[in-house]
Amino acid sequence: MAVETAESLASRLALQQRAFLRDGPPSFTQRRDNLKRLAHAVKACADQLVQAVSADFGQRSRHETLMADIFPVIAAARHARFHLWRWMRPQRVWPGLELAPSRARLLPQPLGVVGIVSPWNYPINLALAPLVAALAAGNRAMIKPSELTPRTAETLAEMLGGLFPEEEVAVVLGGADIGAAFCELPFDHLLFTGSTEVGRKVLAATAQNLTPVTLELGGKSPCVIAPDADLTQAAARIAIGKLLNAGQTCIAPDYVLLPAGKTQDFVRHFTEAATALYPSLLANPDYTSIVSDAHYARLAGLIEDARQGGAEIVVIDPAREQPPPTSRKLAPTLILNPGDHLRSMQEEVFGPILPVLDYQSFDAALDFINARPRPLALYYFGPEDLNLRKLLARTRAGGVTVNETISHFIAENLPFGGVGPSGMGAYHGEAGFRAFSHAKPVLLQSRLNSRILLRPPYGKVTEM
Ligand code: NAD
Repeated sequence: MAVETAESLASRLALQQRAFLRDGPPSFTQRRDNLKRLAHAVKACADQLVQAVSADFGQRSRHETLMADIFPVIAAARHARFHLWRWMRPQRVWPGLELAPSRARLLPQPLGVVGIVSPWNYPINLALAPLVAALAAGNRAMIKPSELTPRTAETLAEMLGGLFPEEEVAVVLGGADIGAAFCELPFDHLLFTGSTEVGRKVLAATAQNLTPVTLELGGKSPCVIAPDADLTQAAARIAIGKLLNAGQTCIAPDYVLLPAGKTQDFVRHFTEAATALYPSLLANPDYTSIVSDAHYARLAGLIEDARQGGAEIVVIDPAREQPPPTSRKLAPTLILNPGDHLRSMQEEVFGPILPVLDYQSFDAALDFINARPRPLALYYFGPEDLNLRKLLARTRAGGVTVNETISHFIAENLPFGGVGPSGMGAYHGEAGFRAFSHAKPVLLQSRLNSRILLRPPYGKVTEM
């Protein structure tokens, strides 16, 4: 594939923009057909995609790639096809008594060409789920996948190249420099998924063209365990959400807040649960590798920093294999009551390391969360009582799952996105369709009423 330059990117975008103006918005039937073909292609390429992702990670379970990367895209396309007619319908709006008997409509229109920048951690889902929304809304799209999952990016490029003409959907390959040039293009909308740090650069780059953005960023997503929660169940469910993809999930529980005095019980339950999920690590095909040596070194650095900072470390290595760094299999690790200055409490963890902190009162736990940047996700374990109502009312987070982790991401009827430093805007389901559409207000004036009140000569000044 040709090496991209700023010029080649600009000409690929110009091709799509010309085609959009030439052909106009695609019909309902064309959009449904696009979504159907995309879902079929993803299904047909599933084996290739699974292998590419696993090779990119070093090792990733087939099941995890199917469940977390491939099926959600097929489900999103199916959901969009099912609801598309209703989403596309112009909405009638009452224009107000003073304009009677005129009529008004909100006409959803595609924006034009949407740019999509995706990360490596779910490299299929986070490239194609935004594409589903863009196509449903009638747009053309250019996708820039992550350079850290190059085989997956190439497989996606091949698959999409065989499915759509270049003037409809294009894939751009390259690293951070190409990402930066990509975000400077005058797209009609840009959806970026990645770190908060790069998100800041993206927002600055898009400001030049006033390109509207959806930013799906990261952050530290807390897990709060209420005093009267079922601790065994909470620990088991947190272990599943935390260790999925070896913790390399934007909405993985980043740290746990639990009532003082319960830490050792939590450690025991979490260790039992993690051991049952992953009885071994090194050759276990279910336990995902850390994506690169640099990411492994960063995570090992977080543990070492905590150790040197005096925090108690619990390593869960049931088969006592002590996986070497070359395997990039990092054992699940708990950091007990880390000080706030430690790196594991300052950075997004993004790996199988879980800081566990205790609180004296539930209000203190909420204060702890509120003293930090607004997270992408927040998890609560406990009865649906006053504590939950307080948590929902007093904290701000992109999304919440109660007595489970991750699940709010899966519900297509729930918009997914962050708030403040964890992101702006949302997509999934109808929210994605709306994010990539312009709801054009149209007023249809009648022959009877034509601005009686605002037609000179005004004569006397109107009394209030
Ligand atoms: P990243 O920000 O390093 O990279 C994301 C993408 O941006 C890649 O395609 C990269 O090539 C590109 N990029 C790099 N520098 C760029 C620049 N200056 N301008 C434009 N594009 C640039 O993120 P990552 O390491 O791939 O992913 C991990 C981060 O993403 C974590 O912080 C995680 O929480 C976040 N994330 C968020 C979501 C979400 O839905 N909110 C989902 C997955 C990951």
